[in-house]
Amino acid sequence: MRIEIVTIGNEVLSGRTFDTNFVFLARACEEASVVVAWHTTVGDNSEAIGETLKLALSRADGVIMTGGLGPTPDDVTRKAVATALNRPLQLDEGTLQHIRDRGKKSARRLPSSVETMALVPRGAELWQNPVGAAPGILIDYRKKPVILLPGPPPELEALASQFAVPWLRERAGTCVESFTLRTFGMFESQIHERLGAISDHWPGASLAYLPSWFGVDLRVTVSGPSATLVRDTAERAYGELTSKVGGVVYAEGTTGMEEVVSEALVAKGWRIAAAESCTGGLLTKRLTDVPGSSRYVERSFVTYSNEAKQQLLGVSAEDLARHGAVSAQVAEQMAQGARKKAKVDVGVSITGIAGPDGGSEEKPVGTVYIAISSALGDAVRHHRFMGTRATVRERAAQTTLDMLRRHLSGLPVEPAWD
Ligand code: ATP
Ligand code: MG
Repeated sequence: MRIEIVTIGNEVLSGRTFDTNFVFLARACEEASVVVAWHTTVGDNSEAIGETLKLALSRADGVIMTGGLGPTPDDVTRKAVATALNRPLQLDEGTLQHIRDRGKKSARRLPSSVETMALVPRGAELWQNPVGAAPGILIDYRKKPVILLPGPPPELEALASQFAVPWLRERAGTCVESFTLRTFGMFESQIHERLGAISDHWPGASLAYLPSWFGVDLRVTVSGPSATLVRDTAERAYGELTSKVGGVVYAEGTTGMEEVVSEALVAKGWRIAAAESCTGGLLTKRLTDVPGSSRYVERSFVTYSNEAKQQLLGVSAEDLARHGAVSAQVAEQMAQGARKKAKVDVGVSITGIAGPDGGSEEKPVGTVYIAISSALGDAVRHHRFMGTRATVRERAAQTTLDMLRRHLSGLPVEPAWD
């Protein structure tokens, strides 16, 4: 079954509201093997909604529309759909009762206009809203389902997961499996060169490259009529991909690099201290984003000035003068200093030029040195990150976490295919 998702609302069309309802529905559909083949956004305009619905019904096997089911005059979805499908609105007594019961429970007196939410297209099946007033509406239009769901995300999510998606799953007729491998340290083009046309001989599969400053995620989606065939292909794809690029895979699914590092530190029973300059605490923020991080984060030093580097970390004034604050020598001494002063197992440091000013020919904006010091040894790497100040800082933090991940598993800190 290939469906179209239509999100309705001027606020979505104008870009002021992020279309998180689409994100939620698309993910839920994928997990339920319902293929989302189109996504349209349309404003709160009856004619446009009617036209969009007709177009969707001409190409898709079913349609989910969200938004505009409320009681205010800008909520026109029910009326627009009723007109487009020639299913006049009728009062549904059960929904009216539900709305009145909710009104009694609420401390405020609600205007009678809320009762317009009990008007539904003739012949529709209704799903009672567990967290709001407007019900989910299912219309069977010439054997194609048209599903209307309210716009507020909690209501959309409750009705979609309790009713709409299970209903579609039962009728899907296709099986879908997908997985994501998260890589770090190689560019998209390098990964592509290494993989070539690898997915060509995976029947029914697609391979997507999803780059961001957290790395390149590789997402494989396999669909087909047989669950066994789909699973076999997904397993084969997984095996082939990991044998080619496994060395730069740090996690699967949505697991973040900070979680991987956290697990590695907990497994070793190690505590960490960070010394941050250009990232101003971003690395520590990432490390402490993980619940339970007090098990391994001892403290951090945000040492922006040379004085702070000397006073708090014991960096040598002579090396600061000779090599500059952004240098391998200073990065190493910062990591060693953090480890020693905090009396922890591993010290890590970041010093660099985030820009937009402060660069030179020898050390341009984006130059960052990252060092690690532990009983496993000391390591330092020079980097040159491209992008804005924010990007340089994000990349530096993510790179440091990857270096830590590699260091803690006894690997060289430099990314490598194997
Ligand atoms: P209400 O009874 O609240 O008016 P409704 O079904 O009419 O519900 P809308 O008026 O379209 O829904 O949207 C209500 C709120 O839900 C919006 O202000 C917006 O914050 C949120 N919303 C609507 N559509 C989306 C969407 N596609 N993604 C994320 N949020 C949305
Ligand atoms: Mg509304």
